[in-house]
Amino acid sequence: LVFTLIELVATLPANTLISRVGQYRKFNPSKGTANLRRVLGLAKEEFWIILGGVLALLVSSGTLMIAPYFFGQVINNAITRNEGLNTTVVILLAIYVGGSIASFFRSWLFTLAGERLVARIRKMLFNAIIVQEIGFFDKNRTGELTNRLSSDTAVIQNAVTVNISMLLRYILQIIGSLIVMFILSPSVTGVLLAVVPIIAIMAVLYGRKLRDLRKKFQDELANASNVAEETIGNIRTVRSFNGEKKTMNHYGEMIENSYNIGRKLALYTGLFNGYMGIFAQGAIVLVLWFGAKQVLEGHLTAGLLTSFMLYALNVAMAFAFITSLYGDFMQAVGASVRMFELMDRDPELKLEGGLKPQKFQGVLEFKEVSFKYPARSDTEVLKDINFKIKPGEMVALVGPSGGGKSTTVNLIEQFYHPNTGSIALGDDDLRNVDAVWLRDNIGLVSQEPILFACSIYDNIQYGCDATRSEIEEAAKQANAHDFITSFSEGYDTLVGERGVRLSGGQKQRVAIARALIKNPSLLLLDEATSALDAESEYLVQEAIDRAMNGRTVLVIAHRLSTVRSASKVLVIDKGRIVEEGTHDQLIEQGGVYKKLVLRQLTAGATTNPSE
Ligand code: ADP
Repeated sequence: LVFTLIELVATLPANTLISRVGQYRKFNPSKGTANLRRVLGLAKEEFWIILGGVLALLVSSGTLMIAPYFFGQVINNAITRNEGLNTTVVILLAIYVGGSIASFFRSWLFTLAGERLVARIRKMLFNAIIVQEIGFFDKNRTGELTNRLSSDTAVIQNAVTVNISMLLRYILQIIGSLIVMFILSPSVTGVLLAVVPIIAIMAVLYGRKLRDLRKKFQDELANASNVAEETIGNIRTVRSFNGEKKTMNHYGEMIENSYNIGRKLALYTGLFNGYMGIFAQGAIVLVLWFGAKQVLEGHLTAGLLTSFMLYALNVAMAFAFITSLYGDFMQAVGASVRMFELMDRDPELKLEGGLKPQKFQGVLEFKEVSFKYPARSDTEVLKDINFKIKPGEMVALVGPSGGGKSTTVNLIEQFYHPNTGSIALGDDDLRNVDAVWLRDNIGLVSQEPILFACSIYDNIQYGCDATRSEIEEAAKQANAHDFITSFSEGYDTLVGERGVRLSGGQKQRVAIARALIKNPSLLLLDEATSALDAESEYLVQEAIDRAMNGRTVLVIAHRLSTVRSASKVLVIDKGRIVEEGTHDQLIEQGGVYKKLVLRQLTAGATTNPSE
């Protein structure tokens, strides 16, 4: 019953709001309402808590209902010098105390339910986001996604607990007060009811204007947050280009835009309050005047009129709060639509559920693979790519920057599927292979490895769950053990955001250890192009050589020594394999490869847009 009631109450304002929201969000109205109902469905686990809250709400509203009556009685007692004054005061006090205790329970239980609900929603939403395919993340801003996790969920939390409980409370307050008022004096209530619709219509008209402004304000603020997030996240680049002034101005402009709307919002809110105040209080005075005349004519006692006026104030306040709740509900409808869109989104590439071969074996073969990135579907990045990597073989990819080397690696990792053609592992099409299984068998070391903001130990263990001795062994293999143990905190040293507290060479060696810990069958390497000092370079190179030993390797090569030892070199340019063979054969051909070698392979490859 309670749920039906809540649901009913929740959908009532939502319905009227969505038609307006639809003007700029193009919502399907029934969808928006359905979403709110779905959010309430999610709150089913909090049923008992909410039920407790509703009961407390009934009690506290009930006390609000009867208190004014006794308030009036105290006054009547005083006027008529009645003996019962003290008793009435004690009753009034008891009502207020009881009401406050009930208020405590109401507020506590509803807030508690909200916290529980939002914690669950956040987990569900995060889980839904994190399994989306990589193409999804190419298209959606990080800030936008994290925003949904933090703000949208908070808005929803508020709506389904605090706002609904307030709505319930005010509706009860209005209905209850009107009933009591009607009993006290039908004629005065009639006068009051005659003026209420006028005020309500004005509130709606004004509220509409406010809502539009609020929406614009939110949008502008979101733009500013995006700028802030991007610059703070990339402060090193900002600093090195002396970009502080520029970003200050840029952010300042964005904030100025939101301020300009905020300024209007402040004015309109003020006007709204003043304007509503005049009408609401005018109505009260009108009722008071009418009531006073009734007292003069002997139809009403002074005490009853006082009670009546308190009830009228209750009703007026409840109306005012309900109008302010409209905006919150509308925001929640928008937030829940966005949230469920995300929660319901089926990733285009599934993580699990494919074939899980016993062993990672067989030839890895690209067959007429062509590919466009989902975020830039007008450009074919790979065209008709054919090549094979046999088990134990080391194949090197070389070519000018932007040619498609990293993209090739991305396809093997199953970050994307080819648009045409296929990639096979032995007899299986990679499309049908379980992606989690596949990645368990692949070690990826990228050009500029990203570490997580935790300890070195946890970073290496990110590759897979391993014992301490396995982790140290992997670190030794990766030439990282010595530098790690030279830190006072050893493996527990925190590396900072993205690993900023380590040098480039150290980061790379930790990343190699992280890849080795899972003992991958296939190693995908992107050699660093950024210059390391000779010592570091030697250590990294030695670690890589050791890692390659006995494994199938595909390496994006920037070093002559690497391509020399490769059993096959593929030259990729503008999305096509333009040359293929061993180093010696290709030098003999005297084509693109030879030119690249003369430029030491790395020239021009330092700015890789996909990194
Ligand atoms: P390479 O590794 O050879 O330098 P890439 O494979 O990184 O080249 O890039 C090939 C092309 O694909 C480039 O034109 C690049 O702009 C584009 N590209 C790379 N990553 C993406 C992406 N995530 N979304 C859209 N286009 C991309």
